[in-house]
Amino acid sequence: MAAIDSEQTGTVFNIQKFSLHDGPGIRTIVFLKGCYLACKWCSNPESQKTEPEMFYHERNCIHCGRCVAACPIGAIDPKRPGLIDREACTHCGACAQACPAGAMVQSGTKMTVAQVMDELRKDETHYRRSGGGITLSGGEALAQPDFTEALLKACKARGWHTAMESTGIASLKVLERVIPLLDLLLLDIKTFYSARHEEFTGHPNEVILRNALAISELAKNIAVRVPVIPTFNDDEQSIRAIATFVTHMKNVSRLHLLPYHNYGQNKYSLLGRQYGLIGIKPPEDGRLQKYKTIVESLGIACVIGG
Ligand code: SF4
Ligand code: SF4
Repeated sequence: MAAIDSEQTGTVFNIQKFSLHDGPGIRTIVFLKGCYLACKWCSNPESQKTEPEMFYHERNCIHCGRCVAACPIGAIDPKRPGLIDREACTHCGACAQACPAGAMVQSGTKMTVAQVMDELRKDETHYRRSGGGITLSGGEALAQPDFTEALLKACKARGWHTAMESTGIASLKVLERVIPLLDLLLLDIKTFYSARHEEFTGHPNEVILRNALAISELAKNIAVRVPVIPTFNDDEQSIRAIATFVTHMKNVSRLHLLPYHNYGQNKYSLLGRQYGLIGIKPPEDGRLQKYKTIVESLGIACVIGG
């Protein structure tokens, strides 16, 4: 394996320990910032932009004005709903450092591979005992390809199991560098229909489908993940179309149907944004069972949930 660039820098917004999801055993999930899509149901909206972002928790605010004084460009006005002029904000983090109440919180920190590895190594015993490892999530880890490659190489050098959640959007060159470093790829395929994909995620899906086929030649083990979203793909035709496409892929061990939830909805207002799927209810169990039967009838193992 080529030398590991431990000083490679990426923007990380969360390191979640002791996860029993997103791969086998006990895992640490490293969440990277930046995504090519903006899915209306995204439960981590703070992941979408590449640069750090500010959460404003109005309930915690004691209106002390320290953030106003700390902001070097005058982007905070106590009279403005949500305080921050988000067009002007340069994401310097000075307001969060000045805030005594935890009301202003920065999401996203620049970290080197060496710094992330220092965190991950603390749980190495758990990975070894449980057959676990690390999972890269986001955001889209492929949007920070040099950092992702260096981090995965460092993990492989320690013998850890590696997994990554991804939409598969990247150049073929990046895919060839990153995908072989993974023991498990959790690949999102949201719909077969490009116009609907664009309406709900902001981008068409031709590249995603083309890359999925290329990835399936490179990956050791793929779990396809389909978020089941009412008004988007919560119908038999949509699920059958995805499953039929998956029959053309190699190295797919299973397909997960992930029922819609709105757990991330409150984060949108903290970021000064609007949630795009207000009033949508999770799909009913009976429908999910029907979709599972459709997927299995095409010879693909199917699991409801993560
Ligand atoms: S992050 Fe920096 S620029 Fe943005 S509001 Fe806070 S202090 Fe001002
Ligand atoms: S520094 Fe924190 S508590 Fe004080 S006004 Fe700003 S956000 Fe509110």
